[in-house]
Amino acid sequence: MKKIINTELVLPFGMFAQIKASLFKDLSKEYVCYLLCGHTMIGNTLRLLACYIVIPDETDYVRHSQVSVKIKQEFLVSILKECERLKLSLIDIHSHPFSVENVAFSSIDDADENEKAEWFKRYLPDCYFGSIVMGINSHQSRLYLPSTQLIESSLLLRPIEIPLKTGKTAKFFDSKTHDRQLRAFSKEGQQALANATFGIVGLGGLGAGLAIGLARLGAKHFKLVDFDRAETSNLNRVDGMTKIDAQLKTFKVDIVARNLLEINPEIKCQTIKKNITKHQDWRQLRDVDVIITATDNYLSRMLLNIVSQMYLIPQVSIGTKISTKEGTLDGGHGHIYTVLPGHNQPCLLCAEIINPVEVYYEMASHASRCQAVKSGYIENFEEPSPAVAHLNGVILNLALVEIHNLFCGFKPISKHLLYSMLEQEVFTILESDRNCATCSQGGGFLDVVIW
Ligand SMILES: [Zn+2]
Ligand SMILES: [Zn+2]
Repeated sequence: MKKIINTELVLPFGMFAQIKASLFKDLSKEYVCYLLCGHTMIGNTLRLLACYIVIPDETDYVRHSQVSVKIKQEFLVSILKECERLKLSLIDIHSHPFSVENVAFSSIDDADENEKAEWFKRYLPDCYFGSIVMGINSHQSRLYLPSTQLIESSLLLRPIEIPLKTGKTAKFFDSKTHDRQLRAFSKEGQQALANATFGIVGLGGLGAGLAIGLARLGAKHFKLVDFDRAETSNLNRVDGMTKIDAQLKTFKVDIVARNLLEINPEIKCQTIKKNITKHQDWRQLRDVDVIITATDNYLSRMLLNIVSQMYLIPQVSIGTKISTKEGTLDGGHGHIYTVLPGHNQPCLLCAEIINPVEVYYEMASHASRCQAVKSGYIENFEEPSPAVAHLNGVILNLALVEIHNLFCGFKPISKHLLYSMLEQEVFTILESDRNCATCSQGGGFLDVVIW
């Protein structure tokens, strides 16, 4: 097992506010709630991913006053059983309503939590126990690492919220290069953007230009995923691709990496030349801070949607579509969809960005795909689809506004934008209210419920 140096807890969008609301609804009493969390290792950092919040009813308390709290034994047992059943870690949260700033664990907290940590060490050695104490304007958090003895590690709390923070230690950013934008946008946001890692999947007409735009904005860490190589028919729209690249059939990720380093030699770029739908490589994206989905198929979007929900990673999906009728232009559209994983935050499936019928046939045999085209179920996948630089340019720049805003928080987030090329208009699509197998209650991945 890898040595754990740091520990952190990622909270889905909206959960931190929900915790505060449940703990401070009445300042004359201490309240508790519980987080059930999955976990993953990112380098030497143990990252806990909160999936359930459990808020006890009034009847689940033995007593609670302004200075003490006791939960019924059977309620605690039901939570521990749930951890055991789902192999989840537990974070115990309680309030100290009498503390405003500088809240601290009491000696009673220490004794009580030590006992729970010992239980985890003994009965659920692959899971973890930790705790948070919340004052009105402050909190402290810790995780017990099971070793021969229990080791208390300070737990970094990372709620998904705008502006996004990465949890990485601040690094220097070049204020001279970004002088003009720092006159309008926040320095903290610029720092977070420089520390963030962007996982861009699909480095074609959209992804390549977006990566270059991000580098100009000040992004410094990239994971680029595409198995495709340059060809002559890409030259009408792929930023930074040259005729020589097309002749040499250079990997698209290598072209983008070259362009990024020309903009800023400090940029760190990891390239993955694989088809993520065929390999398990999508797991390599679990450590990025934002996933950017710019692929030309639905199956990859489906997988990236799952990665985003499972590992609580914000995702921005972009795509364009030009339609023709009997060989002439009929319409052109593009979408930008931003997902902040959390309760009531529709994913790509329920926002209908992903077409499940297309996903089904993308996984089917070539023969049955051809049959589906003949029957009119899906579009002809063997015919190259129309594409043009200006439509891609509009969409990737609209996406850059949204991504910049994730870090700098200069406007309300526009979750779902649709651009119409013929009308030159941008529409905001309202959220649909569908039950979803991926992101809603009862779904398979992020299952944020109160029980
Ligand atoms: Zn306490
Ligand atoms: Zn969904």
